Formats: sequence, structure tokens, C-alpha cells
Amino acid sequence: MVNKKDVLFLEPVFQERIWGGTKLADHFGYEIASELTGECWAVSGHPNGQSIIKNGSFAGKLLGELYTEQRELFGNHQSDRFPLLTKILDANQNLSVQVHPDDKYANQYENGELGKTECWYVIDCEKDAEIIFGHTAESKEEFIKKVNGGEWENLLTRVQVKPGDFFYVPSGTIHALCSGVLILETQQNSDTTYRIYDYNRKDKNGDFRKLHIEKSIEVSTIPHKPVDMVHKVSKLDAATVTTFVEAEYFTVSKWEVEGKYSSKHDKHFSIGSVILGSGELKVNGHVHPLKKGDHFIIPSGVEELTVIGKIEIIISHP
Ligand code: ZN
Repeated sequence: MVNKKDVLFLEPVFQERIWGGTKLADHFGYEIASELTGECWAVSGHPNGQSIIKNGSFAGKLLGELYTEQRELFGNHQSDRFPLLTKILDANQNLSVQVHPDDKYANQYENGELGKTECWYVIDCEKDAEIIFGHTAESKEEFIKKVNGGEWENLLTRVQVKPGDFFYVPSGTIHALCSGVLILETQQNSDTTYRIYDYNRKDKNGDFRKLHIEKSIEVSTIPHKPVDMVHKVSKLDAATVTTFVEAEYFTVSKWEVEGKYSSKHDKHFSIGSVILGSGELKVNGHVHPLKKGDHFIIPSGVEELTVIGKIEIIISHP
């Protein structure tokens, strides 16, 4: 009989990007095909790059297929597609300055895509590394004037980052990762990005990448709306659990375990990504080894999970 309550481990998919590098190999030991690897799609049911189930009776299945065929594993979640996408991004160079649409806009103008609200956990970064987060324009007129005039330094807000920082990036937020940051991203299952500025860079064929100025202006939140994030921290005997965000599309926490930590599980499903250390995961009597770079799904019906070791895991659920 198929044990539907066992953990699903996933094989990531890697994406080459002009801003990518080799940190996904250096930091996580992944086998990457290119020295310009920008993205690890770690837990993905998106048609542009789907993870494959590695273990158990569903080994070899694409996550998107499994979600469609065995919805009960995902607590019969109401979304018509796997709702989340977990990535690790190596910004070896600056990413384009960009913005994502919300569900309504994406559904109407991007063939039924979902919108993209995302969030970032900074795994590692260079000293003085920065991101672009928000802008200074008070009105749409001012925003358009600065975009058309190329007044980027004046328009864009830069924020310094350090390892362990967390940023919630709702759709409509002007943003960009800058060079030297390695992040774990939890986002809606969408691949729609509007580039507003790309540093006048050319790709390997000598072409400028496409910009989407009009759509960017249409979907940007103006003025920028800062989000006040209060992190909830629970310090327990063998674990510190920090909940960074509990919002419309996802809840994201970090488990820092040293010893043995058990947690009740009453979610549709949960996603785990090991970002540091190693240990074991115990679910329904099955013990799975865990190491940095592993990604897994805890299916519906699992009532408790136990993590043993010295390990840090980013846990999310819709
Ligand atoms: Zn983005």
C-alpha cells in the first residue's frame, strides 16, 4: 500500500541567468551545469521548471503532476496549481530592477498566471551588500518623470543587508537583489516579472534584455508602501523558531534546532529547506537523514514531525 504520509524529497531544477554565479555549487554542493547559474528552483510545480520527487512510491513524478493527481497529499488545497515556489538565488551580479503584478492583473494580462508576492531570507552575503527595495516617488507623475529621465539613483531606495535578514515583497513593490547576496525565496507559483531597468546590460548574444516599462508603471505601488514586519520568536529547549511572515499567500519561519525538536503539524502541507547543518527528520516512524541543500514537503495528514541535529531549516506553508 502507498504510504501517503511520508515525506517527499525533491530534486531541484537550475536556471542559467546573466547575473548568476557558482555559489549554488560552492555553498550547497549542487551540481550546476553553468558558471552563470542564478536560480535553484527547489520546490516547484511551475511548468517553466518543475522539481521531481526523489523518494518513495512517487519517485520520478513531477511535483505539478503529483499535485493534480493526488491532491489529498496537499490537504485538498483549493488552488488549481501548486500554490508556492521555493527558490535559492545566487545574485553574483545585480538583478534587473523589477516589479511583479498581483493575481488580478496577471490573470488578465499574462494568460491566467498568478501574481507574485515573494519574500527573501538572506542566507549569506558580502560585506556591505545591498538590495533595492522601494522608491522615492510620491506620485505617478513623479515616478514616470524619473523613469523616463533615467534618474535611477534618485528614484530607487537601497537597503543594506546582512545574513539572517528577511524581506517581505508584496506584488507591486519595486525591487532588485544586488550583487553578492544569496537568498532563499518563498513566492507564489508565478514566473511573471516586469523589468523597469536593467543597467543597460547586454546578454551573451549582445542584445539588451526586454524591458516592460508600461506594465511596470501600471502595477507599481506609488508611493512605496513600507511593510512593518514584526518577527515572532519562540525560544524552546532545543530550538528557536522565528516566524518572519504570516500573510495572505504564505507563512515562513526558521527553525534553528540544536538537539531534538518536535512540532505538531495541522497544515495542508509544509515545505522545508535545510540551509545549514545536518540531522534527521522523523515522521510517522520513518527516519530521513537531512543535510544542507535538502528540500522536502511534509504532506497533509502528518500530525507531528521531529527534527534531530544541529540544523537550520526554513519552513513555509500556504
Ligand atoms: Zn522579484
